[in-house]
Amino acid sequence: MSVLTVISPATGNVLRELPADDAASVTRKAEMARRSQRAWAARPLPERIAIITRFRNLLVERKDHLSCTMTAETGKPINMSRNEVGGTPSRIDFFIENVAKFMATETRDLQPAGALVPGAGDMEEFVTHSPLGVVANISAWNYPYFVGTNVFIPALLTGSAVLYKPSEYASLTGLAMAGLLHEAGVPDDVFIPLIGGGDVGATLLEQPVDAVFFTGSHQTGVKIAQATAAKLIPTQLELGGKDPAYVTDDVDPAVAGAALADGAFYNNGQSCCAVERIYVHATVYDAFLEAFMKAVNGLEMGEPNNESTYLGPLTREAQIAELSAQVEDAVGKGATLRTGGKPADRPGWYFEPTVLTEVNHRMKVMRDETFGPVIGIQRVANDDEAVDLMADTQYGLTAAVYSRDRKRASQVLAKVPSGTAYWNCCDRVSPRLPWSGVGNSGLGATLGHEGIRAFLRPRAWHLRAP
Ligand code: NAD
Repeated sequence: MSVLTVISPATGNVLRELPADDAASVTRKAEMARRSQRAWAARPLPERIAIITRFRNLLVERKDHLSCTMTAETGKPINMSRNEVGGTPSRIDFFIENVAKFMATETRDLQPAGALVPGAGDMEEFVTHSPLGVVANISAWNYPYFVGTNVFIPALLTGSAVLYKPSEYASLTGLAMAGLLHEAGVPDDVFIPLIGGGDVGATLLEQPVDAVFFTGSHQTGVKIAQATAAKLIPTQLELGGKDPAYVTDDVDPAVAGAALADGAFYNNGQSCCAVERIYVHATVYDAFLEAFMKAVNGLEMGEPNNESTYLGPLTREAQIAELSAQVEDAVGKGATLRTGGKPADRPGWYFEPTVLTEVNHRMKVMRDETFGPVIGIQRVANDDEAVDLMADTQYGLTAAVYSRDRKRASQVLAKVPSGTAYWNCCDRVSPRLPWSGVGNSGLGATLGHEGIRAFLRPRAWHLRAP
């Protein structure tokens, strides 16, 4: 039996050793999921809804304990962990409230089943919606509750069994969620956690699963797509971003500065939709930069368990080298380092909040996903230049414009391809809206109506009475 060592990012100390999966256990679990799925799908939807509602209520009841576990293994500041665990029930509510509508049998013109459809003669025509079957969900560590429940809640509600591989950096949290699902009444062989790193994920993809939902980096996403290509199964990929924000010349620079500092540095910049590039109209550039720096200088770094900590450690030690390389590359090509730029002088994987100006698109910091507390701020002459720079990326998760003028913001956003567009806000996800990416940011959508339909297969029925 192999072992997964869970390390505290705040100290570098070992927190736990977990038994990890191997090829034999992954195969056994996949067979279990296959055997159990039909019976789960055959249960009436209200039963599955009641079970998921119990899970939702357990999240509320155990919020503090669950938040402490996530903070211990990922280094996420405790208040942000509570925000995440506390924000998950409303996402689940969206699925609970809407799933029946999308599973209902319907005629194509949305008449109730049984009605004769104009143009179909004596035929009865309708559509049913079947669950996908056995769903593999390979997940990331940065928001394990959000990105996990976006997938496995609609999968379970619609009648699929789930093989869930949490990130190796959020396995205690993955096991905690599995424990609560089982306590709520999801059978052990319907929601099955798999513990381990990328090798366990790769082994999972060799199993005869019916669909794959992946959240993680673009590099791994490409490997997932390659591994599933020959299986011809639905494969959804929620990948990284290099999300731009543009500050026009009509804003209050103090408001935009504070908002974008939060958008760039919340969760240490380890959000798929963190602001990673800021373009500022030359007219307000100095005032914006002053407000931005003031906000950054006020961010408190500390132990993730402290109530007042805003910047905890990075979750992965390896990210320190990546951030250092991006800073070195930028400074080597002429950027000005306004603050930070190096690991903090304390134990654990801490990195100083870093602001670079005089940046350009030859620098990695304006092209590659940073996924850390490092931001580049670039001065632009007008909206056209901002559009060109915002759109100059392989990614396309979100894009934001800060402006008093809604029409102007919409015109800019219309020219920048991205799954999500923000006006005077950023780093935000709504359960009611589809979450998707363009280009290297991924394939398919979760959340919103699309995030329920993604878990259902339409089946067409042509019926003729004898
Ligand atoms: P990662 O790609 O390193 O790992 C993601 C998962 O894939 C992990 O569970 C890992 O064990 C597994 N994995 C690794 N190699 C594999 C392989 N060959 N086959 C199968 N599985 C494999 O990503 P991460 O560091 O966990 O997460 C950070 C990334 O996720 C960032 O790029 C971030 O932007 C992205 N992300 C995107 C969204 C979104 O909604 N678009 C949300 C959260 C995170």
